[in-house]
Amino acid sequence: MRIGFIGLGNMGRHMARHLLRAGHLVTVHDTRPDAAAEHLALGARWADSPAECAREAEFLITMLPDPRSVEAVLLRGGAAEALPAGALWIDMSTSTPAVAERVATEVLDARGVHRLDAPVSGMARGAEAGTLQIFAGGSDADFRRALPVLETLGAPERILHVGPLGAGYTVKLMINLLWFSHLVATSEVLAMGVKAGVDLAVLRASLLASPAASNFLERDLMCVLADGDYDDSFAMALACKDLGLAVDLGRDLGVSTELSALVEQIYRRSKAQHGALAGEMSPVRLYESLAGQEFRLPRPVVALDTTAVTV
Ligand code: NAD
Repeated sequence: MRIGFIGLGNMGRHMARHLLRAGHLVTVHDTRPDAAAEHLALGARWADSPAECAREAEFLITMLPDPRSVEAVLLRGGAAEALPAGALWIDMSTSTPAVAERVATEVLDARGVHRLDAPVSGMARGAEAGTLQIFAGGSDADFRRALPVLETLGAPERILHVGPLGAGYTVKLMINLLWFSHLVATSEVLAMGVKAGVDLAVLRASLLASPAASNFLERDLMCVLADGDYDDSFAMALACKDLGLAVDLGRDLGVSTELSALVEQIYRRSKAQHGALAGEMSPVRLYESLAGQEFRLPRPVVALDTTAVTV
């Protein structure tokens, strides 16, 4: 299939590589031409502009940082105008329904171009492995049409059709909002527990054996606890963007978001302190400072028998 791909960053560069390896004819574009070197070596064609990237595409995939860049590429960059009638635009960026709707009403609908929102979870390592979780919003027909392409990027059982247009963006924002909230709540608990004198490994094992257990504590936080890795593959700038979009969505819907707004502020403080390019787990460091120690498990990490622990 002829696929245009725009946005070759931490996620998109792996995704475009999978499409090339699956034998698709892929044209790539990014504001950083050097980001395309590995794809050109695999046979991709380079496009000098978003419009050129879209011109002959049956599918146009965008993997861009935020709603502003999606709008820049589709409208000002001319990709929407250039897409042939019948083409399908798949936006895999974490963005908002409002921008995609504007692109559709201003250009796509009149030209007979279809669209799907299909944001992803799974971090850069999921993109690299081709095992992303994908949350698609759009019609049944467009989802079925996109499925063979999506299956090149994600694990088939993790590709979910979550509803009509816009539902994919919404589900993705809700996932990130809850995950960032887990990070802040868990960090606060660990800071208090260790400062009160409980061993970090014992505290973690006790929490995991209790009704307060979470995937976040068991699995996702391990990169910090075992390796001191705050996950630079997802930048604080993007995390703060996602939190801002989620809180804005709550405002638009008239749903109060006291907790989410607080989590956003804590993330913004960490971004100011640790930098826009720091990893998404950097807010943990705010709580390590409060605890007066880094949260690290001794090596090798030993499982404790805490089956008797309850809350
Ligand atoms: P990134 O910043 O690493 O990559 C974005 C790419 O888009 C860059 O190569 C940049 O040069 C390019 N770009 C920006 N504006 C452009 C424009 N106007 N025209 C052409 N190219 C442009 O971001 P990422 O980490 O790859 O994330 C991409 C999207 O996926 C974001 O919406 C993010 O929230 C989401 N996401 C990221 C992760 C992760 O772990 N990194 C996980 C899930 C979802």
